[in-house]
Amino acid sequence: MFLEMARTARTKGQTEQAISLIERVLYTEPNNQAAWLLLAETTPDPTRRTQAYERVVAINPQTAAGKQAVAALQVTPAAPTSAPATPAAPTSAPATSAAKPEPGPKKPAVREGRWDCRYCGSQGIRGRDIACPACGHVRDKEVRFYLPEEADEVLDAALLQRARAGVDWLCAFCGTSNVATAEQCRQCGASKADSNQHQAEQTYTLENVPRSAKAPKPTPALAPPPPSKSGGLGSLVAIAAVLLLFFVGLGAWLLWPRSSEMAVTGYRWERTIAIEELQTVIEEGWEIPPGGRRISERQAVYGYNQVLTGYETRTRNVPERVRVGTEKYPCGQRDLGNGFFEEVLCDRPVYETRTRSETYKEPIYQSVPIMRTSYTYEIDRWRVVTTRRVGGTNRQAEWPTLDLRDNQRAGARTEQYIVVLEDGNRRRYELEVSQAQWESLREGQRVEVQTDAFGKPISIE
Ligand SMILES: [Zn+2]
Ligand SMILES: [Zn+2]
Repeated sequence: MFLEMARTARTKGQTEQAISLIERVLYTEPNNQAAWLLLAETTPDPTRRTQAYERVVAINPQTAAGKQAVAALQVTPAAPTSAPATPAAPTSAPATSAAKPEPGPKKPAVREGRWDCRYCGSQGIRGRDIACPACGHVRDKEVRFYLPEEADEVLDAALLQRARAGVDWLCAFCGTSNVATAEQCRQCGASKADSNQHQAEQTYTLENVPRSAKAPKPTPALAPPPPSKSGGLGSLVAIAAVLLLFFVGLGAWLLWPRSSEMAVTGYRWERTIAIEELQTVIEEGWEIPPGGRRISERQAVYGYNQVLTGYETRTRNVPERVRVGTEKYPCGQRDLGNGFFEEVLCDRPVYETRTRSETYKEPIYQSVPIMRTSYTYEIDRWRVVTTRRVGGTNRQAEWPTLDLRDNQRAGARTEQYIVVLEDGNRRRYELEVSQAQWESLREGQRVEVQTDAFGKPISIE
């Protein structure tokens, strides 16, 4: 009976009503092949059409309806896109304005919401469905629509028309929701004129759009912290820590003092005295030091002054932020009270960075030399002319004997005391020690020696 009514509605061009009647049949008889075929032939939604044909074939491809569906699927293998054909490019673009073409006013996108059935618990029922497909209960005043994050924009013309037709009205007798265009209650047939209630439109900001049927939105303050993104960084830190530990350990191992017993097998010493001689030298400087005897003087460049000689006018390009207009952007969602949501568009200023050329004064400097008197003078200075050196492998250290001339004197002295050590493997080392220690050691004496990691002596304990 309903299928016959659907056919009549379809021939009258009442597509919406026809689909509603077919759906009513399919709720109770999900394998009604004729109903699926009629749905495929009626729906304006290409995806749904393909799905309906596939359903017909799945039920039985051998019947007349099945063969018809197979043929239909072969003619249109892919669902034809409902996007409007791109308008033919104008052959000659009218030179209306030099500015870049203004995009047409952005139409707010419509998306299909969802609702949950509070009778049977079905979730995510399409906004276009007025009755729950699982239990058949119609939605009423209490229905809460929500908009899943991933809801696609509705592009189908029939659905858009329905979304923009207005809020659902509520039957005064049975409370059923009815689409704005329906004149009679789909459930009891009561007239729309008798109804004085309807679903409400509601506007949300992007942050509080209901995304599921859960009534109160969780407060953002209680939201769990965002997942830590430091995974990669953390492992890097761990590797760095392990490397650091390795090198600290290696360093400690190398520097850690070791003790070993060695025998004193010999001595060495060396002492030096530098011999200085008073010599007359010629020097040049900005002043004559005490004891210097002036020979000549001249004017020389002591340094430079940067002197401001004037300004030069130059131009440079400066970036500038200029407001060039406004643009629409989605700032919220409006629950249309009929299962659909529409974007709320807000205005915001559009800025452009342009370069502006400006003139400025560049200071011009000139380097001006500073002249001063430079003196050439002779002066007597002590200079190291030679070093007297004595040494030996005995333990009688002595200073070199000096035979100084009248213009000579003894300068800096150095002294070095070395013991020769032999370890258990008969390897020999020389170690410099203090004079007191050097004198206290006896040849053949066994001593405790601190060594580095390679056995080289560092000190005698
Ligand atoms: Zn239900
Ligand atoms: Zn009713």
